[in-house]
Amino acid sequence: MEGASSRQQVAETEKATFFTKEELSKLKSNFETGGVDKIKSLINQKVSELDSTQLNIAVTGETGAGKSTFINAMRGLRNNDDGAAKVGLTETTMEPAGFPHPNFSNVCYWDLPGIGSTKFPADKYLKQMKFEKYNFFIIISAGRFKENETKLAKEIKRLRKKFYFVRSKIDADFDSMRKGGKEVNEEKELKLIRNNCCENLREAGIQTPSVFLISSFEQDRYDFNRLNKALEDDLPIIMKSIFVLAYRNRSVEIIQKKKKMLQKRIWMLATLSGAVGATPIPGLSAACDISILIGAITHFRKCLCLDEASLQRLAKTTDKSVEELKAVVKTSLLGEINTNIIVRLGWGATAVALSALEFGLYSIPVIGSIFGAGSSFLMTYKILTNALEDLTESAERVMKFAFGIN
Ligand code: GDP
Repeated sequence: MEGASSRQQVAETEKATFFTKEELSKLKSNFETGGVDKIKSLINQKVSELDSTQLNIAVTGETGAGKSTFINAMRGLRNNDDGAAKVGLTETTMEPAGFPHPNFSNVCYWDLPGIGSTKFPADKYLKQMKFEKYNFFIIISAGRFKENETKLAKEIKRLRKKFYFVRSKIDADFDSMRKGGKEVNEEKELKLIRNNCCENLREAGIQTPSVFLISSFEQDRYDFNRLNKALEDDLPIIMKSIFVLAYRNRSVEIIQKKKKMLQKRIWMLATLSGAVGATPIPGLSAACDISILIGAITHFRKCLCLDEASLQRLAKTTDKSVEELKAVVKTSLLGEINTNIIVRLGWGATAVALSALEFGLYSIPVIGSIFGAGSSFLMTYKILTNALEDLTESAERVMKFAFGIN
């Protein structure tokens, strides 16, 4: 019981700060003995962990099941876009093919050759695919349930890896039922398909299978969002952040989720910016590290899909031009981020309420002291909080305009 509650405590701490309880204690004691300089490297490490942790997602299933189309959908691409996985190909290679997310190369989807086309039994197949490197597996299945799929599920479970069973092309199922003259009760049919998948998996010894019915062409319908939420919920905090920031901006909820993740970084960046070595910026009252500020704002912009490449991709998938998308944005943060822009943000920075959660809950004296000692921490905190607010609002405007949401 005690174990469970301390595990929960660790999870809560991580959720609020990205740091484990142990890491926070280390921060505290390092600060007490060596001041800001001694915690800089710990914070730096965490920031780079947040940027560079690799997330490898294996997508497996028979040829034609819809793996490539699913991978493209998860990367916010259509099948004919540049960089999209090629669709409708006969499998010619026995090697997994990696498809990095267009904005975040550390999020990579791997298209594994269909187990049927390799002729390996499930255990050899997974070994051949170097199963250890994947954080989890998505088994894509279309049409009737196949024996290979159960074998694969069982073997992934035996290897203590997590898998999600995805039944694809639900839209096509309904289309063909309708074409056959059937009046379709979608809810009832979905239940039947879901039960059938669950039964087959249970028969194979998977007691609580995670089954998702999706269409990669209609991502707002069926279980596509529920699948993303399940993946997100199951990931540890650092990977969860990476996964969430790679989402397509499809709803206000997603954009707000990204904002929350980015907000949690601000105190770390402010601590780094206020540490020794910060150079005065003419026009700002406190010495801040300009490269940290520019880097952070550029990163926020990319995460919120407001960088040039993301806007180009959005324009291609909607009937809007990049110019039209840019025209709905009020922020000055879309162009080059330079000292002038930063100074203006600093002037405009209204008083920001420092979150009690971040600074008080885990009694991190570190922050209190830095905050008390000088104002470069506060200035960076304010500038980044305001920039994030500005960019989030713009991201919502762009998303609503692009998808015709009021
Ligand atoms: P892979 O061989 O598993 O990578 O499958 P592909 O992604 O190449 O898809 C095979 C065919 O199924 C292509 O013609 C796709 O357009 C089609 N397809 C894939 N996913 C869907 C879907 O969700 N709905 C419909 N209607 N067709 C799909």
